[in-house]
Amino acid sequence: MGVRLASDERLAPLAGRTPAIATLCSHSSLQIFHGARAEGLPTIGLCVGPPPKFYDAFPLARPDRFLSVSRVADLPSTAARLREEAAIIVPHGSFVEYLGPEAFASLDVPVFGNRAVLGWESDRRKERDWLESAGVPIPRLYEDPDEVEGPVIVKYYGAKGGKGFYLAKNREALAEFRPTGPYVVQEYVLGTRYYMHFFYSPITDHGYRLSRGSLELLGMDRRDEANIDELYKLGAQEELLKAGIRPTFVVTGNVPVILRESLLPKAFEVAGRIIERSVELFGGMVGPFCVEGIMTEDLEYKVFEISTRIVAGTNLFISGSPYSDFIEPGLSTGRRIAREIRRAQAEDRLAEILS
Ligand code: ATP
Repeated sequence: MGVRLASDERLAPLAGRTPAIATLCSHSSLQIFHGARAEGLPTIGLCVGPPPKFYDAFPLARPDRFLSVSRVADLPSTAARLREEAAIIVPHGSFVEYLGPEAFASLDVPVFGNRAVLGWESDRRKERDWLESAGVPIPRLYEDPDEVEGPVIVKYYGAKGGKGFYLAKNREALAEFRPTGPYVVQEYVLGTRYYMHFFYSPITDHGYRLSRGSLELLGMDRRDEANIDELYKLGAQEELLKAGIRPTFVVTGNVPVILRESLLPKAFEVAGRIIERSVELFGGMVGPFCVEGIMTEDLEYKVFEISTRIVAGTNLFISGSPYSDFIEPGLSTGRRIAREIRRAQAEDRLAEILS
């Protein structure tokens, strides 16, 4: 038996029942419902206002039932009903973002994964400590602007939706920055971005083994980001600034990518270290997560962020990816989540994957 994340009381509504998979109708919900259905689990779509009509367009991914509330803040009030239905909430980025990490963490319903991770992800400094103490290469943080060498990216605390970044190509350009709130100054890493979709299962004892459990790579994407991605077409940054155009990193879509095969050991090593350290720090980051970083020309992978749950980039791979096809053809992250739940229940190990 590994680390217990959920109390008996939390798991009581699931005893002897087929669990239902519930999530907020947004982000990667189609994939989560589709995967649950493929594993024979019932599904509940949580929505704000009437059920979104676009679900009717996707019959294989439409939840079996909807549970509507009039405001996001009312979502916690569905807890009693969800417990009655033996529901397990699967978090995704929008769910946590809309509800807020504190409200999400206190939901009185079994949640897939370890909700303790929220406190580590939502605080940039804590996330950095986690990565740094795991021995993962990360972009340099400048406490003193006089130490700046080369280009930097300035990030405000709680920057949302890819806006509110400031790029400076050197120390002199940074001196012109006029902050409007608390921020950090990071080395701007030059290279190619890779967003790697991993899945950590503490209850699997084969495959790529960690101290406990195992690690799977299910896919990889790169985000399309407006307006930075195409900004070069307009010429140099200074000229753009004169014209009042500032770079933004608003995610507008995702494209599939693969890594040079010789770099895969590095990818697994980085993800493995992040997991091993998470087990020491807070009992482990269970289920899907995304390692987001930049491969430099020296083939060093510097991680600027981890998303600690399913990311929208996995929506590219609902019928498998060039990686998950080597595990099981057609395996999506959504299906992998449902599979983990089914297996844990069959082996009486739900306490290790739910919280
Ligand atoms: P989210 O939480 O929505 O993923 P965020 O606001 O936390 O975004 P980051 O993910 O840290 O922001 O960064 C947004 C984008 O900025 C990245 O996708 C990447 O394109 C770019 N970026 C971030 N940090 C760096 C860095 N150190 N060097 C180069 N580019 C960076």
